[in-house]
Amino acid sequence: MNSKSAKPETCQVAIFNEPNQTLEIRHEAIPVITNDELLVRVNACTICGSDLHTITGKRKEDTPTILGHEIIGDVEAIGSTPRFDLKGTQIKKGDRLTWSICISCGHCDRCEESIPQKCGELKKIGHEQFEPVSGFLGGFAEYVLLPKTTAVYKIESDLEDEVLCPANCATATVVAACRQLRAITEKKVLIIGAGMLGLTATAYLKTHGATCVTVVEPDNKRREQAFEFGADEITADIQSLSGKFDAVLDFSGSSAAIEAAVQLLDIHGTFVLVGTVAPSPAISLDPEFLVRNLIQLVGVHNYRPDDLGAAMSFLEETASQFPFRELVEKSFKLVDINEAIDFALREKPIRVMVRP
Ligand SMILES: [Zn+2]
Ligand SMILES: [Zn+2]
Repeated sequence: MNSKSAKPETCQVAIFNEPNQTLEIRHEAIPVITNDELLVRVNACTICGSDLHTITGKRKEDTPTILGHEIIGDVEAIGSTPRFDLKGTQIKKGDRLTWSICISCGHCDRCEESIPQKCGELKKIGHEQFEPVSGFLGGFAEYVLLPKTTAVYKIESDLEDEVLCPANCATATVVAACRQLRAITEKKVLIIGAGMLGLTATAYLKTHGATCVTVVEPDNKRREQAFEFGADEITADIQSLSGKFDAVLDFSGSSAAIEAAVQLLDIHGTFVLVGTVAPSPAISLDPEFLVRNLIQLVGVHNYRPDDLGAAMSFLEETASQFPFRELVEKSFKLVDINEAIDFALREKPIRVMVRP
């Protein structure tokens, strides 16, 4: 074996092995396109609350894995088949991209029923087991290898990575949640939880014509941020609310808050449940209240590719009106990811960024 072929080029990855342990920084061979994937070089990845849930053992993943799904990257190499983005633009080397967290097969019953986010063969970015050379699906790494069915979006604006990283998680999920509402214009909406999703939803609803957005959030700093994202009314305590709402969106996952909020729905109201992504206490519901008031209860998990397209359009049109950039409080190098995670767990900023 000569020395030239013996050493493949390597790249840095941060591997999650088990909860409450530091991530392992490793050097692995750069992934290789074998099946029309897209090889993307990661520019930045923000740490999502769900990454922290996995790291602290609240959510289980097959290990070892590369976490991180809120990624912006540049196309490094393209398989033999031409690739097009959600707008129909052909992808070229060097294009700056975001992409859907949900990778669907496109042909199973669920995909054909327009719920590709629940595809029978669904893979999720930042949630799959790591495989050397072929299985690079997380953002806490220098490269990601996107399967050929991944819905991608070519970024043509010059918005910063700090604004765009959460687009394929929080923003697209907010679009999917708001798609469940019968109407937004001139409606009164209650948002529970002012994290990344609640703040984004506040801005989304206000720019789509909601008359009044009320936000419930126990944290002082996040309540102030909710004002900056357009909230009309903010409270720390849901019990202090007495008005009626046309819609409620829960991003908190708090069973107690959900139970209290159902009673606040007006006739023909819609309740969208988004935040409950871990086992939570059961709640009691009064079926007669739901029946007599024509209440609609909807669960939202993951999103469709078109939700990502709408999320990107929303950010491109409105990012200058809201302080999205400020939600990323600090940026770390990938090699210092364990410091970044400690900071995120300790200070609870809305987002922390990691860059290779
Ligand atoms: Zn996320
Ligand atoms: Zn499918």
